[in-house]
Amino acid sequence: MVIYSHSRLSTFEQCPLQFKLKYIDKLKPEIKETIEAFLGHQVHETLRFVYEQVARGIILQLDEVLKYFIEIWNREFNNEIKIIKQEYDAEHYFHKGIKFLIDYFCKHSPFKDNTIATEKRIMINLDFEGKYKLQGYIDRLVHNKDTNIYEIHDYKTNGFLKSQEELDKDRQLALYAMGIKNNFENVKEVHLVWHFLAFNKKIISKRTDQELESLKQEIIELINKIESTTEFPPNPSKLCKWCGFRNNCYLFNSSFKTENIQNNLE
Ligand code: SF4
Repeated sequence: MVIYSHSRLSTFEQCPLQFKLKYIDKLKPEIKETIEAFLGHQVHETLRFVYEQVARGIILQLDEVLKYFIEIWNREFNNEIKIIKQEYDAEHYFHKGIKFLIDYFCKHSPFKDNTIATEKRIMINLDFEGKYKLQGYIDRLVHNKDTNIYEIHDYKTNGFLKSQEELDKDRQLALYAMGIKNNFENVKEVHLVWHFLAFNKKIISKRTDQELESLKQEIIELINKIESTTEFPPNPSKLCKWCGFRNNCYLFNSSFKTENIQNNLE
């Protein structure tokens, strides 16, 4: 049985061919890691370290946080990391990471919101028989003991700021909210919290039980569609620049490019 994830579902919706190459043919992507993903990993790892220290009773100072980030950046950086936007170099992304962490530190230190887990794996059963399962990783989980409200925190390091309306319909954290309600007792509410680090902005959303129930049905329908699909056409978009399967995509591995496809890519 396949255990789905938000990214598996999104890949199918975004480009069925990429989904097939990645999840059915299980090809290795030719891009090992983009610089954007690398930056995201190092920032996530630094914030994980910060909250792990808090759990031990240690509140780090800003210079210690930045020292950790610099150490892991230098240790993990390698020449296989791909910079797609040629106008920028690795240093540009490194400085972004430093700025994200300074802003986050100034806003949230001393980090006392009762974080109970970081990078927490969560399993979500969409039906009673266990036929439809999803898994995800929560960047940070907070529990307010007084109110019994849980908060799912998610860090975004890209340059896209979503609106409140978009986040009120966002699927990923709503799925994780289902998992929290399944896995913890007497959950009063679950708050979904996004940290858009490039904008130093935090946005919160909530879902009713009814909204979660209809999301559950939508996801079951989407999984049924994926499992009965036999045709996986490419769906070219701006995101093709970051696709790790261009060598296996006939839109890029042949001279066939219609004007329509070209327009979508620009
Ligand atoms: S290059 Fe674009 S169209 Fe081709 S598989 Fe990747 S995302 Fe899909």
